Amino acid sequence: MIISMRQHATKEEIEHVCDRIVNDFGYKVHSIVGEERVVIGVVGVGDVTQCLESLEATPGVERAMRISAPYKFVSKEFQKDRSRIAVRNLEIGGDEFIVMAGPCSVESEKQIMESAEGVAAAGAKILRGGAFKPRTSPYDFQGMEGAGLKLLAKAREATGLAIITEIMSDADVGLVAEYADIMQVGARNMQNFALLKSLGRCGRPVMLKRGLSSTIKELLMSAEYIVAHGNPNVMLCERGIRTFETATRNTCDISAVPVLNELTHLPVVLDPSHAAGKRSLVPPLSRAAVAIGADALIVEVHPNPEKAISDGAQSLTVEQFRRMMEDLKPYVALWNESRVGEPALVG
Ligand code: PEP
Ligand code: MN
Repeated sequence: MIISMRQHATKEEIEHVCDRIVNDFGYKVHSIVGEERVVIGVVGVGDVTQCLESLEATPGVERAMRISAPYKFVSKEFQKDRSRIAVRNLEIGGDEFIVMAGPCSVESEKQIMESAEGVAAAGAKILRGGAFKPRTSPYDFQGMEGAGLKLLAKAREATGLAIITEIMSDADVGLVAEYADIMQVGARNMQNFALLKSLGRCGRPVMLKRGLSSTIKELLMSAEYIVAHGNPNVMLCERGIRTFETATRNTCDISAVPVLNELTHLPVVLDPSHAAGKRSLVPPLSRAAVAIGADALIVEVHPNPEKAISDGAQSLTVEQFRRMMEDLKPYVALWNESRVGEPALVG
C-alpha cells in the first residue's frame, strides 16, 4: 500500500497516519519525504481493504493505494510456477493441450452416448454436458438433473472420458461432486459466493467461467474465494463477455488468455462456443486459443445440432469436431514445443 499525504499535511497529521498504520493495523511504515508531499509506504499482512478505506478517511491523506494484487493465492506473486490440476489420469495446465467437448445439455442416453463416443474418437479427453442448466427463461428446459448426472457417469464408464458438468447451487455440491471430475461454475454464478465457498470444500477440481460482464480482476477474486476456502484446484475459463457488438453472441476476449497467464498460475481454458454463439467461428477461435497459450478448450458438440434442446447454433456436429481436431494438430505441435522446459508445479 502507498499513502500519499496532501501537499500541506501537517507534521501531526503525518504522525497520526503513521501511528494508525502501525498501531491500529499492525503494518510497518517507510516514509519518503519529497519536496511537495510525504508518501508513506506500508508493508505487512492484514485486511488491506479495511485499512485503505479507513486511511482514505483520515485527515491529511490525499490517496491510499493498493500496490500488490488483492488476490493472493491465485496470483503469480504467490506462486511463480504454473499449477497443474490432476483430473483422473490427465493434467490441466501440464504438458498436454486438453480438449473438453460434448453437448450443452444432457438430453437423453442416446444423445450423450453418441456425443461421448464421437468426441472421444476425435481426441477429446473430457466430456462436457449440463445436467443442471442456467436458462434465461424459467420456461426453458432446466436440465435432467440427477438422471443427467447418472447418464454422464455411464458415458464415462463406456468411453474413459472424464466428466465436466455445471453446478448451480451450493445445495447440490455434494450430489454433483459424486459424479463430476470437474465442477463447472457457469458465467451467471461467477459471483455466487456461497457456491464458491462450498466449492472450496468439495474435494473436486473446479472450472470457473468468467461472468458475462466481469472484469479479469473480479474473475481472479472469485477464484481466490475457492482457493482461500481450501481448494487449490481451480482453472479459469474465458467464455466471451458482453459488449456493444452484436455480430457474435458475446465478444471473445482472447487477450484474457495472456493477461491471465501474466497474473495467475492457474490454468486457462477457452470456450469458443459460448463466446461466438455461431458454429462457423468455433474452429478459428479454437486455433487462436491454442496459439495464444490457453491450456485447454471446452467446445460444444452435438450429434444433431438442429435438434439440440439448447445452444444448437453454436454446436459442432461430431464430424465438424473431428475435422477441427485434425486442423488443430499443427497448432498443438507448436504449443507442445513452447511448453518444453517450462517450470510447473503440481497444484
Ligand atoms: C454452458 O457451458 O453450457 C454454459 C451455460 O456456459 P456459460 O455459463 O459460459 O454461459
Ligand atoms: Mn451451452
